[in-house]
Amino acid sequence: MEKHNGLLIVLSGPSGAGKGTICHELRRKLPDVQYSVSATTRYPRPGEVDGLDYFFRTREEFQTMIEKNELLEWAEFCENYYGTPLFAVEQALQSGTDVILEIEIQGALQIKERFPHGVFIFVIPPSMSVLSERIHKRGTESEEVIRKRLETATRELEYVTEYDYVIVNDELEKAVDKLKCILVAEKCRVKRKSYDFQGV
Ligand code: 5GP
Repeated sequence: MEKHNGLLIVLSGPSGAGKGTICHELRRKLPDVQYSVSATTRYPRPGEVDGLDYFFRTREEFQTMIEKNELLEWAEFCENYYGTPLFAVEQALQSGTDVILEIEIQGALQIKERFPHGVFIFVIPPSMSVLSERIHKRGTESEEVIRKRLETATRELEYVTEYDYVIVNDELEKAVDKLKCILVAEKCRVKRKSYDFQGV
């Protein structure tokens, strides 16, 4: 049986589906899970803090991270780069800590290649009109960017079959509960356990 490592949990789905809010809530409820901080070339939104929400980097700096193999995965999304720094994730998993990545689909598929034992969860909005409403309400993107994000979201929904679980985010509390249940179930999977029956 394989050694007891932390779980690698990949939460993805269209931008605006509520992945961030779900993660934020889960963080309050499960403080022992580590949340991977991504690198990005997009500008910080009001209130976002470098090193906490993202590592905000120039395109050149991001390129260097790619060349030095410092990213576990990376993708271009709506004209910006996003990527997961490898070091922190590897360290946490090896020390038995569960890690959550909140990333878009191209990145999630790269991770699936490298970590087939990861837990892949797709978060979807109850409808496209709710998605549009949420992105507009956030008020942080221009109409042009919103249009691109909605177009991308429509394409992204087709990838749901690549995932292990789907969570429809119609109500935050319920969505977070479902995520917690998935994590509990995954921890109980026989293939993830190593047993020592000596002395039983
Ligand atoms: P936002 O600009 O709204 O913060 O993020 C845009 C999209 O990029 C979201 O779907 C978010 O989940 C995704 N994203 C954030 N960090 C990463 C990352 O490290 N890698 C990839 N592939 N996507 C990411």
